[in-house]
Amino acid sequence: MKSLLITGGAGFIGSHVVQHFLTHYPQYTIINLDKLGYAGNVSNMQGFFDHPRHIFIKGDIIDKFMVEKIFVDYDISGVIHLAAESHVDNSIHAPDVFIQSNIVGTFTLLEAAKKHWRGNKKDNRFYHISTDEVFGALGATGHFTEDSPYLPNSPYSASKASSDHLVRSFVKTYDLNAVITHCSNNYGPHQHAEKFIPTVIRNALLKRPIPIYGNGKNVRDWLYVEDHCRAIDVVFHQAQPGENYNIGGNNELSNIELATHLCQQLDQILPWGEQYASLLNYVKDRPGHDFRYAVSTQKIQQRFQWQPRYTFSQALHNTLAYYIQQATQSMRDKDQKSCDVPA
Ligand code: NAD
Repeated sequence: MKSLLITGGAGFIGSHVVQHFLTHYPQYTIINLDKLGYAGNVSNMQGFFDHPRHIFIKGDIIDKFMVEKIFVDYDISGVIHLAAESHVDNSIHAPDVFIQSNIVGTFTLLEAAKKHWRGNKKDNRFYHISTDEVFGALGATGHFTEDSPYLPNSPYSASKASSDHLVRSFVKTYDLNAVITHCSNNYGPHQHAEKFIPTVIRNALLKRPIPIYGNGKNVRDWLYVEDHCRAIDVVFHQAQPGENYNIGGNNELSNIELATHLCQQLDQILPWGEQYASLLNYVKDRPGHDFRYAVSTQKIQQRFQWQPRYTFSQALHNTLAYYIQQATQSMRDKDQKSCDVPA
């Protein structure tokens, strides 16, 4: 039995990663460390919270004493580090917490791993989840490769780039067995309401204007979260120490294309007499808005034969079903509250 520390397991991607490792690896106990910040949600852990091999700890990764104690108490032999402040807009308005969680928090985990593992590379692994945003923005063509230069443009991507550099330095200086992956935009159930796809669906269902930054032409590559989990699994178990990999969905769409597509799907699932796309509303662009991100996934495909399994339409269907169910439940709860007669 091995103990894996997964950070950020109450968040969007982290909750799927915890579920994946519990389902596929009976030899792992998962220690899930999350501070339950605004983006962490106990309901994301509903499917596994009471699992006998899942231990949830509410705590902050910058708490050095607590992190070191977790390594000792559970004899942690692997880390999958996802905990981070993750929303670019928030990093523009209040970057401080991004420096603390994303940089100081990663440093705290690296120090604890270094201390606990003492150069034992064979049996231990530190996996840092990063983002394609560290490479900056692309023009209309080309892809980021694993060797692209770091050119972060937002406080969020700069904080993630800083944490990547710290991880690399621990590999080179202390021989830590660490790997890094850079993924593109994830989508699927459990994403916080502030993110693009949940915002489009929620506003459409509430018949409110759907905000689209600038001219809507910014392009993102979309990766279904379950495909991402399979890639994390492969890299965690098979990559060489110090390697880094890009993970993407090979599925580029401009924001306006994606929003229009979601509206068209909703027209079919929940027709309301008008087209949902009539709610699309261009708003002032985000400062420093990167035009396009796209990653080459050649390395992970060639090395591990990994590629996305879900088609975009299947994955989007699952995603829509989840957010429609969430919205319906929340409307029902509100109705119920307004019908409640005080005793
Ligand atoms: P999320 O915001 O949904 O979840 C982050 C989780 O980390 C939350 O549960 C939060 O409570 C927790 N957390 C934040 N700061 C913490 C701290 N100091 N101590 C303990 N817990 C803390 O984020 P996500 O979308 O699931 O992203 C997970 C990781 O993947 C992040 O590192 C992010 O940079 C990276 N990433 C995400 C995407 C994406 O599209 N979502 C794309 C590329 C990379």
